[in-house]
Amino acid sequence: MNYENKTETGLFDAVREFVSGHGSFLLLTHVGPDGDGLLACVALSQHLRARKKKATIAVEGSYPSFVAPYDPEGLVRTLEELSAHDDWAEHFDAVLVIDTGKPKRIGKFRHALAASGLPVGVIDHHIAEEDNFEGPSAIDPVSAAVGEMIAEFLQGEGDDFSDSLTVRALFGALSYDTGHFRFTNTTEKTLRWASFLMERGANPNEAYSVFWESNSAASVKLLGHLMSNLHVECGGRLAWFALSKKDLEDYGVQREETEEYISVPRSIKSVEVIAFFSELEKNLIRVSLRSKGRVTIHEVATRFGGGGHAFASGARTHDTLEKTAADITRALAEKIRAELGPD
Ligand code: AMP
Repeated sequence: MNYENKTETGLFDAVREFVSGHGSFLLLTHVGPDGDGLLACVALSQHLRARKKKATIAVEGSYPSFVAPYDPEGLVRTLEELSAHDDWAEHFDAVLVIDTGKPKRIGKFRHALAASGLPVGVIDHHIAEEDNFEGPSAIDPVSAAVGEMIAEFLQGEGDDFSDSLTVRALFGALSYDTGHFRFTNTTEKTLRWASFLMERGANPNEAYSVFWESNSAASVKLLGHLMSNLHVECGGRLAWFALSKKDLEDYGVQREETEEYISVPRSIKSVEVIAFFSELEKNLIRVSLRSKGRVTIHEVATRFGGGGHAFASGARTHDTLEKTAADITRALAEKIRAELGPD
């Protein structure tokens, strides 16, 4: 684990050249932006602006509430706000896509981006897929968070990490994608960065409270409902649950408040794999898969048109909640049995 070496071997060379060759950037992350991708964008934007470049961050859909404490200047824009500029090429000269490498993962931005003809660079920590963007990329699936890659990139660029928002945002990104330094993706390098950022003012409790102590009472009650209907199968090794749109409406809960539900069944000792099926619209289901580290689940996500990491993956299906849950839990049970043996 030697991040200095990785920089020497050129992980960031193409992206560095891309950044130095342009002056006005649009920073995008994947649909359903999370604490890692979006806070990594905030840190990168601070760095670019300090270098006298322009940087605009945009998200598809609504403005996630967790970002407010990290966006004091209101820099994060929604797609609707950005659409007021009909010609991106007049405002930006390059796009940096952070925390995904796939055009289909940036949702509605994909068409505007293609129409703009702007060049695209990628910084991502997901397993690279064939349908990734073709432009200059830095992809490191071993990094715990894309925020860790941004920290490394900034260090290579000579950033002195004196900007407190950069420091807080990078710490928040690390905290988010490692479940506050608990998941198997947490490495000694991650903890070194966490320590480095704490020495410069990051407060671990800030990220913890933003991501894990900011939900409504209704969302905890909905969680109780889902957990009391939790399915535990495959010899206790597979836990899954499904959330319908009606559940959200009945309990008056915002979808973003359900992001961390998937971590709850991890507390069951026998459980190795967790699946969470969430109805976005009729016949559009978001699938979230997690593994405690003994069973890789990425192949199952890929088989259903998704992707991600070895132990944290996802997909979207165009099917009913019931059919999606039946198909995917069957595939997961097969995978568990193939890797760990019969029930
Ligand atoms: P989620 O369960 O939505 O938090 O996603 C877990 C991981 O899988 C994240 O790293 C996502 O970027 C990735 N992922 C989720 N959905 C998809 C998808 N449809 N295609 C590719 N990767 C995905």
